[in-house]
Amino acid sequence: MEKKEGKLYILSGPSGTGKGTIVRHLIPKLPQLVRSVSATTRSPRKGEVDGIDYFFISKQRFLQMVSDSEFLEYDLHFENYYGTPKLFVTENLSQGKNVLLEIDVEGALKVKKNYPQSVLIFVMPPSIAELRRRLRLRNTESDADIEERLSRVEKEINLIEVYDYTVLNDDINLAVEKVYNIIKEN
Ligand code: 5GP
Repeated sequence: MEKKEGKLYILSGPSGTGKGTIVRHLIPKLPQLVRSVSATTRSPRKGEVDGIDYFFISKQRFLQMVSDSEFLEYDLHFENYYGTPKLFVTENLSQGKNVLLEIDVEGALKVKKNYPQSVLIFVMPPSIAELRRRLRLRNTESDADIEERLSRVEKEINLIEVYDYTVLNDDINLAVEKVYNIIKEN
């Protein structure tokens, strides 16, 4: 008997909204869910591990993968490329596993076009001021990088109606619980 295709969940929202933290809390609670690891040309931050946080690859390698159609979607932001490797996602889905992507808003919309049955979850920051505070606290980006990330937020929030669900992240435990329930119900 053929296995039932798995479900694709996309967690998205502005940079600094806490998507990564939500995913870290969520994965141990949902053993049937696998997290896709994106490839990026940006340098690893302190503590990030190749193959776990991202596949950190050169621009040349990234562009080779683009021309070999190895990405489900990819995007250039903050002068770096980010992309979702296609094979991991398609193989897991066809084996009946559920897959979680944590990507930016534009990437999410591209995937939704190809996988209309995917579940789009938008993580909303409590406010721009709070987002600025979190990005500063993270202490991994320059002030200019932070302002660039913030300048995209309004545009991203305007796309909210395309999403299936919105989760406000003003309390991490509540936000994790909400995303958990959405995944369980879908
Ligand atoms: P960061 O540099 O803070 O890790 O990520 C910057 C932004 O890129 C975040 O909004 C993150 O969700 C997004 N991102 C990470 N991986 C991918 C990906 O594979 N595709 C796209 N489109 N965005 C990604």
